[in-house]
Amino acid sequence: SIFMSYAYRMSKSSSIASRHARTKTGQRRNNNQSRGGGNRRGQYIDPSRFVAAARPREEAVYTPTHTFNDFDINDTLKANLASKGYTQPSPIQDQAIPAALAGKDIIGIANTGTGKTAAFALPMLNKLMGDRTSAALIIAPTRELAQQIEAECKSLGRASGLSGTVLIGGVSMGGQLRDLRNRPRVVIGTPGRIKDHLERGTLQLANFNMVVLDEVDRMLDMGFVNDVTDILQNVNSERQSLFFSATMDAKVNNLIHRFTNEPVTISIQSGKGSDNVHQDVVRYRSSNEKIDALHNILIKDDVSKVIIFDETQRSVERLNEELIRRGFSAESIHGGKSQGQRQRALNSFKKTAVNILVATDVAARGIDVSDISHVINFSVPQTYDDYIHRIGRAGRAGQVGYALTFVTHS
Ligand code: AMP
Repeated sequence: SIFMSYAYRMSKSSSIASRHARTKTGQRRNNNQSRGGGNRRGQYIDPSRFVAAARPREEAVYTPTHTFNDFDINDTLKANLASKGYTQPSPIQDQAIPAALAGKDIIGIANTGTGKTAAFALPMLNKLMGDRTSAALIIAPTRELAQQIEAECKSLGRASGLSGTVLIGGVSMGGQLRDLRNRPRVVIGTPGRIKDHLERGTLQLANFNMVVLDEVDRMLDMGFVNDVTDILQNVNSERQSLFFSATMDAKVNNLIHRFTNEPVTISIQSGKGSDNVHQDVVRYRSSNEKIDALHNILIKDDVSKVIIFDETQRSVERLNEELIRRGFSAESIHGGKSQGQRQRALNSFKKTAVNILVATDVAARGIDVSDISHVINFSVPQTYDDYIHRIGRAGRAGQVGYALTFVTHS
């Protein structure tokens, strides 16, 4: 049965888990259905693929062809850029902003960390400030990313007079309904909650003439293709579309081309995110050996800020409790937590109030924390793509990072 194989795997992989296995079986069975957890096994990945030396590249110095002052944007936006300390456009901004200001649809191939948020937010804010009848919809795969986009839009759009709202799950409807009654000009949200509001009739998109899709590839990975398609069909057909994705495959390409009109494609290939990550495996024989090996890693001096990935909500929670019991300062983030709890955990990790964040893949998507020294895969990811995505969080901003993956002794 599902439960048997699950329990077996848990007791094999974690002493913390097996200790709880006897007492919490009912609860576990229920939670087992949650997304990102469960006992489905992904592809087999040869452990040798988790080993690689970092190859930090000499970052080619990019000379932008524009300054922010060259862009035909509102002075308020220019002032906000200056007060945010953005002195020159990043490559994606340099190339996407002029085309977007000219009203073109854009396909941007760019990772998180390239400045893509401002690349779509600036043309969007400028359009909204110049045309009082316009409104923009931004769709993001995760709650955290939606909130990060909101923060960037707020600071870039300071004193613009524009109002916005964030429509994400896990928080009560009350505030969102109140915001929506005031006809916000910027709506940022995740597919599920946006669709929910459309179905309730509390959100009308007919007059929305700008739409941004961020991290389209992750959105499709997470199974949002139908929701996104439904939402796009509700947006004004006379619209400008700005779509961003870290990767491009047939699925992404299909969706993007179905909903854009003669798009300009801008690709910022910053090399693989994993190029400057030292990758190695940690071998263990037993669950005790495994947790002790983790302990020994975490006490090393160079381990300054760590994301530890584990498979299920419960395994994440138990590992977090075990680490705290061992005196580490840790927080956890997974789909079983309320939005408020997730946000608090993420904030204290960002501020380094805690230096260990234990996470599931889904909960960790889209998190932009720049100073992570180590990514630890306490359990092997489902796919090699997930692996690359996880380890890309270490070694941001030109720093060499470390990725350690726990595998059993062969
Ligand atoms: P993003 O890829 O949009 O998540 O942006 C990554 C980080 O770069 C964020 O912390 C932004 O605040 C910052 N950023 C974006 N554009 C610029 C710029 N032109 N100059 C300096 N920092 C920037």
